[in-house]
Amino acid sequence: MTSLQPRAGVHYPGSAGEFRSWFASDADCLDYLDWLRWPNGFVCPRCESAGGWAVADGGYRCASCGARTAVTAGTLFDRRRTPLTVWFEACWMFASQKDGLSALSLQRALEIGSYPTAWAMLHRLRSVLVRPGRDRLSGTVEVDEAYIGGEESGLRGGRAKGKKALVGIAVELKNPRGYGRARMAILADGSAKSLHAFVTDHVEPGARVITDGWQGYRGLDKLGYTHEPRSQRAARARGEDPGELLPAVHRVASLAKRWLLGTHQGSVDEAHLQSYINEFVFRFNRRRSRSRGMVFYRVLELAVAHAPVRYRDLVADPKPKRTPPSPPGARGHPPSLDRPRAAQPWRAS
Ligand SMILES: [Zn+2]
Repeated sequence: MTSLQPRAGVHYPGSAGEFRSWFASDADCLDYLDWLRWPNGFVCPRCESAGGWAVADGGYRCASCGARTAVTAGTLFDRRRTPLTVWFEACWMFASQKDGLSALSLQRALEIGSYPTAWAMLHRLRSVLVRPGRDRLSGTVEVDEAYIGGEESGLRGGRAKGKKALVGIAVELKNPRGYGRARMAILADGSAKSLHAFVTDHVEPGARVITDGWQGYRGLDKLGYTHEPRSQRAARARGEDPGELLPAVHRVASLAKRWLLGTHQGSVDEAHLQSYINEFVFRFNRRRSRSRGMVFYRVLELAVAHAPVRYRDLVADPKPKRTPPSPPGARGHPPSLDRPRAAQPWRAS
């Protein structure tokens, strides 16, 4: 998005104490969002020209067309009823807790009036995590499917049927060992049509794709991949555990299941499963991020670049909206609003 290499203590809070001192008021939060959205100065969303005047309520008047734009207009924080300080605290908890948190924990921690409000805040945050146009996986990638979600334990015979979804999983393998990034998406079924679409959506052509021997994966070599099917039968014949043919995807699947049962107590409805999976993948791909403040920065950066998410869309249509936002600050410095590089660079002195 931006070429900036964000640094702790300068571009994002390095600790909980720093977080509290930076964002004591809604005006502080607005200042920060302003800088994240227009790091090189205001660009009018209506006429796309750069430059304008700051107006009293934390927005801008366009120098070209005269339109007024609030800093949060057209972002995830548009028309919010919850104060920005509470939003920021929610973002901080979402980012700083390695496994995230449930709506109930958020409601209790921030003393939010109603459960649906806390629930919707977390779902709004989840909805920004898949950046449009993100890179596909490359190199050597394991691909498999697994049934995830809807498990109920404690019934006779262990698991009740529940509503599980078939989820495609792709994981990069690192050389000589270790895993890179992952991608997961709910599949309609295990057919070649669904699996080929999953692979082409999430894996860069030219990659080496390792799968099991399922016929749904046949033909990947014709789509530009080096396909390496591993046969379970052959593994069994060699006396090997066929469950260990694809260790990376099986590891990721079991981590995802454990996360859903742990953080969310398994109370994840089928309609919202994809957005929980998006959150899991976001966390998995940042598992080595040394600074949780950096994760906070990335979530807010995605949130100001994301279109508003209406409550009725969260309830009625759980599929994340793919409204393509324009990357912030792609256009040059308008001299009227040039920001000095201060210790906290968004605070124009
Ligand atoms: Zn304008």
